[in-house]
Amino acid sequence: MFESSIARYLKKHGHPNIALKATLFDMDGVLFNSMPYHADAWHTVMERHGLHLSREEAYLHEGRTGAATINLVYQRQYGCNATPELIESIYDEKSREFNNHPEPERMPGAWEVLQKIKSEGLTPVLVTGSGQHSLLDRLAHNFPDIFDRDHMVTAFDVKYGKPNPEPYLMGLTKAGVQANQAIVVENAPIGVQAGVAAGIFTVAVNTGPLDGKVLTDAGADLLFPSMQAFCDNWEQLRKELKMTE
Ligand code: CA
Repeated sequence: MFESSIARYLKKHGHPNIALKATLFDMDGVLFNSMPYHADAWHTVMERHGLHLSREEAYLHEGRTGAATINLVYQRQYGCNATPELIESIYDEKSREFNNHPEPERMPGAWEVLQKIKSEGLTPVLVTGSGQHSLLDRLAHNFPDIFDRDHMVTAFDVKYGKPNPEPYLMGLTKAGVQANQAIVVENAPIGVQAGVAAGIFTVAVNTGPLDGKVLTDAGADLLFPSMQAFCDNWEQLRKELKMTE
């Protein structure tokens, strides 16, 4: 089922196999169904500052750090970067606006697939551009005993952020594995680009309103229509990855 995708990845990156030891998970739109609230919060707060970012466009920039998102829009309108003070104040406001929404639900299938991964002795690693304390704190409640602090890369750890490969390369380092000993699970085009640029087999789950084509165009090695579908296909994918070892 996934043989041709796996073979294409191995050929492109010159690896003999994928010897899976770690799974690198993005957070928003993968573990939590939080993107509708993020998109709304971004749009509302940017407009308040005279900056234009539609909810739809917010999905395209998903995965960038807050500062990168603000600068991208600011640059477009004013041709220069926003001041660090303005960036901080907009991002604080955006975080508050996000927290006015209901608590985001766990993405269906996320907990179940992580249970499978954990029971196989694989290391789950969180790799997010988010610096939202509310969500990072909720990880411990919604995904107990899955991610420990030594296996998390957040906005506080990175310099460049996605689509730069940096966060995923840091994820590999934290797990103590090579690129062909991990997979990435991502829902956003920019996150997919980061996973691919890090040389890791990248699984896209299309949990938002974008056309799946933007995820395959970003370089995704596999595309599932939901986290549930990824969870349901986990055993088959695992089997086919093992066949390369
Ligand atoms: Ca995401």
